[in-house]
Amino acid sequence: MSDTMLQLPRITPSDYRGNEVDTCKLCLTEEATTNSHILSEFNYKGAYDSLHRILLVEPKKIYHPKIMQKGLREKNLLCLSCETKLSKWERYADAILNGSTRPEFANLSYQRIVDLKGMEYGLVRGADYAKFKLYLLTNLWRASVSTSSYFRFVRLGKHEELVRRMLLSGNPGDKDDYGCLMIAVVDKSQMFYDAIRQPDVIKVDGVPCFRFFIAGLFYFYFLPKTKAPEWVKFFFIDRTGNLRALRAKREYFKIFSDFLSNF
Ligand SMILES: [Zn+2]
Repeated sequence: MSDTMLQLPRITPSDYRGNEVDTCKLCLTEEATTNSHILSEFNYKGAYDSLHRILLVEPKKIYHPKIMQKGLREKNLLCLSCETKLSKWERYADAILNGSTRPEFANLSYQRIVDLKGMEYGLVRGADYAKFKLYLLTNLWRASVSTSSYFRFVRLGKHEELVRRMLLSGNPGDKDDYGCLMIAVVDKSQMFYDAIRQPDVIKVDGVPCFRFFIAGLFYFYFLPKTKAPEWVKFFFIDRTGNLRALRAKREYFKIFSDFLSNF
């Protein structure tokens, strides 16, 4: 080592902070500049109170929710270009879940079905598999890359990079790749529709999955190659564009009764 190098001033990590540039976590090339929401913002529509604040519900703190302006956002996560890319899928999903009647959605059909076992679900036919599936993946991936402790239970490990590539290339994968079971909960309590739950990991019929709850809708994400129960797979959006969301009363399923009992 030369003397010149030894004479260099010592630089501590804090000295770098002023010039540090965060790189977009999706494209890994552009500078991350946006103040991104972690969960799709449209999901908060029903969850905003009159002051446009949101109730963030954490386990065991249900009656003392944090109040946070503008939902859950994180700075320097994405570049503007990637933010725009993801928002297109979100707008598409928003239109579908809210039953848009705009002309471009005229090909969609909505049906409520009660099967022989009494299971009730909403069926949308004609959905764009890629757009809707990529929308589902954005929430899962953003929660995983978020540095917020609110999302600390959502850690995808090696799957984080795999999902990043899927989002970057617009590849929705197969039906069972990060398949998502959606359950719309039927309940009279308005507070229930005003809540967001901290995502966590639970088991459905012994199979682990990530559980999100956003304003009346549960999302259960299953990793590829974990053998999700067949009844669960039935609700994964498929390539023909069939999208099903189970409708259930709060007391119906053990997989969320622990949460709902707090209301
Ligand atoms: Zn980017």
